[in-house]
Amino acid sequence: MASSDLTPVEEAIDHLVARARPITRSQTVALTNSLDRVLARDYTVPADVPPADNSAVDGYAVRAGDLAGGEPLPVSGRTAAGEERLTLKPGTAVRLFTGSEIPSGADAVIMQERVSVCGDGITVNGPVSEGQNIRRRGQDLAQGELALAAGTRIRPQEMGLLGSIGTADVAVYAKLKVAVLTTGDELVDPGQPLGPGQIYNSNRYTLLGLLAKAGCEVVLCEALKDAREATRKTLERAAAEADLIITSGGVSVGEEDHVRAVLEESGNLSLWRLASKPGKPMAFGTIGDTPVLGLPGNPVAVLVSFMVMGMPFIRACQGRTGVTGGGEQIPAGFSTEKPSIRRQYVRARKSIGDDGLMITAYPNQSSGVLSSACWADGLAVVPENTTINLGDPVTYYSFAELLE
Ligand code: AMP
Ligand code: MG
Repeated sequence: MASSDLTPVEEAIDHLVARARPITRSQTVALTNSLDRVLARDYTVPADVPPADNSAVDGYAVRAGDLAGGEPLPVSGRTAAGEERLTLKPGTAVRLFTGSEIPSGADAVIMQERVSVCGDGITVNGPVSEGQNIRRRGQDLAQGELALAAGTRIRPQEMGLLGSIGTADVAVYAKLKVAVLTTGDELVDPGQPLGPGQIYNSNRYTLLGLLAKAGCEVVLCEALKDAREATRKTLERAAAEADLIITSGGVSVGEEDHVRAVLEESGNLSLWRLASKPGKPMAFGTIGDTPVLGLPGNPVAVLVSFMVMGMPFIRACQGRTGVTGGGEQIPAGFSTEKPSIRRQYVRARKSIGDDGLMITAYPNQSSGVLSSACWADGLAVVPENTTINLGDPVTYYSFAELLE
């Protein structure tokens, strides 16, 4: 097949994302269980956060103007965090703690370290300005504003924010139901002895890990023999159960590559063969209404194509919005020999060299060497038709960013 038949990676991602149908099923989960879920609706702020002006420090509330004369101020009261707020008597101070509500009439808080206590009064060392050490009502979130938008994936900080506006139950989209189908007559489950010509099925576990990280629910997980009818039947069964089918292997040009053939015969094949290294033999299509992401068979290719091509599609299907992530530009600590029409994803790490931060590449970049990905922290990109010389800036994506 001519090189021009390979689809560029960007085009492939656009193709996939354009075909993603965002999930509409939603459910309510307890805030406690909401981590990594996707908000199914906007959350607006029901009441100001914080609900009242409060102190940022342990100290004394005063009216700044009362200190002009430099005389000591008597302490007329005390408010701990959680107690109702007091009214400041003019010409006095109120003892406060971090989080205490500011007494009405007070306009500044003096840190206790800046105060000398003598008898039941205080003398202030240094200047006091209006508003100092006061955390204003609504400074975090003001009533009526948007706290979090539908499509936001809930990280620990979003859990906290939802808690801060008093949300106990959260509306989230249902998890995407995914079928995982590995293919190959040579595959044996770990735990079984290996016969002649056999290898262990590793892609299944890579995919289960990736899907768990992506917040998907695996509803079916099977290893398929290289047989046309069995492949067709299983794909059709999976299509009835899942929102998305992910396969590994069987999408190359050989006569044992039945996934691609079944998509062509019984479904629809809209994308096949990408200008990506690893990850050239990748297919995308549908069986019935269900999208099928046909990943390559090689263990590194599965990982890379899932992260690079699969994740943008999955995010779109999950109804997620606002995901950025453009990688980082870092000098290459490696070089490449000849340019390729395929974009190369190099298993790489950030490291500190004599000239600062640089990207180190794993020596063996074969798509069968999964240990390269275990050594690596991310992927460095060698663009199409480009040669990298030592020190050239390369785009580096951490695995964490790719799986966000
Ligand atoms: P295929 O695309 O089916 O020709 O597979 C490409 C290469 O990946 C072959 O060397 C397969 O043995 C290997 N492979 C395919 N599926 C798996 C799997 N589930 N686990 C480990 N290796 C695999
Ligand atoms: Mg195969």
